[in-house]
Amino acid sequence: MTTLLIGTTNQGKLREFEAILGILSADGVTLANLRDVGLDSLELDEPYATFADNARHKAAWYARQTGLIALADDSGLLVDALDGRPGVYSARYAPGTDADRCTKLLAELTGVPDERRTARFVCAVAVVDPASGRTVEAQGVVEGRIAHQPTGTSGFGFDPIFIPHGSAVSLSAMGEDKHAISHRGRAARAALAGVRALIKG
Ligand code: IMP
Repeated sequence: MTTLLIGTTNQGKLREFEAILGILSADGVTLANLRDVGLDSLELDEPYATFADNARHKAAWYARQTGLIALADDSGLLVDALDGRPGVYSARYAPGTDADRCTKLLAELTGVPDERRTARFVCAVAVVDPASGRTVEAQGVVEGRIAHQPTGTSGFGFDPIFIPHGSAVSLSAMGEDKHAISHRGRAARAALAGVRALIKG
């Protein structure tokens, strides 16, 4: 049995990675989370300007700290009408709750018509093997637009106000179907072959 540590303190992300990567149990992989290794109360810094650099930084830290193969991601929402904001700073876009951050984003887009509300979620995933020092990296993107009001009851973050291209409803109204098209689902699936190779050594 090999353990893969999901290195995130964000419970929304953790639930999604557990759902997406559960498939690795067929390869003899057990998923662990930060609570399992006593690191859940520590918020790691994200010092870099790119998703990929932050993801690699966090995965390498967790791998070094625990001796386990560790996965981390950095992700965010890029809104065209805001010149790509909040982008890599999405988690720190505004104080308060996810709902507060959605409200602020909707306020920033007051009066902006549908055709100029285009946006995308980006997710960079890194998986680091502390034994070999090898790193697997992948990115995923989902294109869409910002709604005029929040809808849906599942997911987290900006999901209630993001409508993926080709969908009539927000990510938050998609339930588990989100993973098939989400930036996180795409990044994690793109990393799978590399992760399987890491595990085989
Ligand atoms: P970080 O990757 O921990 O820096 O946080 C990324 C932030 O981007 C989250 O706190 C959310 O605000 C937003 N975000 C990233 N992925 C998603 C998603 O799948 N749904 C909704 N919001 C997301």
